[in-house]
Amino acid sequence: MIPSAFEYHRASSLSNALALLAEHGEKAKVLAGGHSLLPMLKLRLASPPHLIDVGGVAELRAIARTRDGLVIGALASHADVAASSEVRASHRGLAEAAAAIGDMQVRNRGTIGGSLAHADPAADYPAAVLAFNAEIVARGPKGTRAIKAADFFQGLFTSALRANELITEVRFPETDGAGSAYEKFEQPASGFAVVGVCAQVRLDSSKTVRAVRLAATGVSDRPVRLTAMENLLGGKPWSDQALEAAARQADADLKKVREDLYAKEDYRRHLLRVVARRAAARAVA
Ligand code: FAD
Repeated sequence: MIPSAFEYHRASSLSNALALLAEHGEKAKVLAGGHSLLPMLKLRLASPPHLIDVGGVAELRAIARTRDGLVIGALASHADVAASSEVRASHRGLAEAAAAIGDMQVRNRGTIGGSLAHADPAADYPAAVLAFNAEIVARGPKGTRAIKAADFFQGLFTSALRANELITEVRFPETDGAGSAYEKFEQPASGFAVVGVCAQVRLDSSKTVRAVRLAATGVSDRPVRLTAMENLLGGKPWSDQALEAAARQADADLKKVREDLYAKEDYRRHLLRVVARRAAARAVA
């Protein structure tokens, strides 16, 4: 499969990338790791006249702890995030989500910014950014804005990002000692999530649940919070029985659950209850 013709621009810096994006706007696509965009070009699901390759913009690859929390540059690869000691120390569920993506080649090339911009309903990062209440920072001709994960995903492969905006970083608030984990039941052929759940849970010294956030991917056209399960756990003493009872309601908020050839609605609901229980249990462990 051969993509339609495009003009290739290699951005030399962040400001150069933004200038190219401002110049070509809707006629351009940003190229990061290329692991979602190139297949789309080859299948001619996208035919942008201009490609702006940001892969060489080193300043967008850093992972750092700042007063905004844990800040991950848009070009950090999945492998960078999975291996980062900063990430693993405080946001283990995020590192686990990154480690669960594709295979080694995909993890070495694919980027967090590319994955979020692509907004695949079965991708792993969306569950993690929602569970950690992260903000996706976008820059464009009108300046910089931080978009809450809850507002970022707007449907199937659709996000709040404008055509002339570049994701520059993702900000994860500190977790105040909460444990976290990501569990995924993957489609055996593609490796994408049939269901994936990221859980963040904080207990106090008497083992009462002081904070809990659970988010799932693979079950809808966008990542979703599992608020029924969160409400059953929050403020209550933690126990295996309480977790078991809450996990039985993991899918209670979802009026409709995505179906495909591999997993019909009932099966996906069942998987969601199992995967959510495992993720919450490991977050606490
Ligand atoms: P690209 O492909 O370069 O771009 C993707 C989209 O994002 C394009 O529209 C592009 O214009 C836009 N974009 C990229 N960067 C930016 C930016 N900074 N600002 C604004 N827009 C931007 N994903 C999973 O979650 N789980 C999996 O199990 C999984 N398995 C995979 C298996 C295979 C074999 C392959 C090929 C891919 C798989 N993926 C999986 C997808 C992979 O994670 C991609 O790396 C990711 O979806 C896109 O990141 P990228 O850097 O490659 O982006």
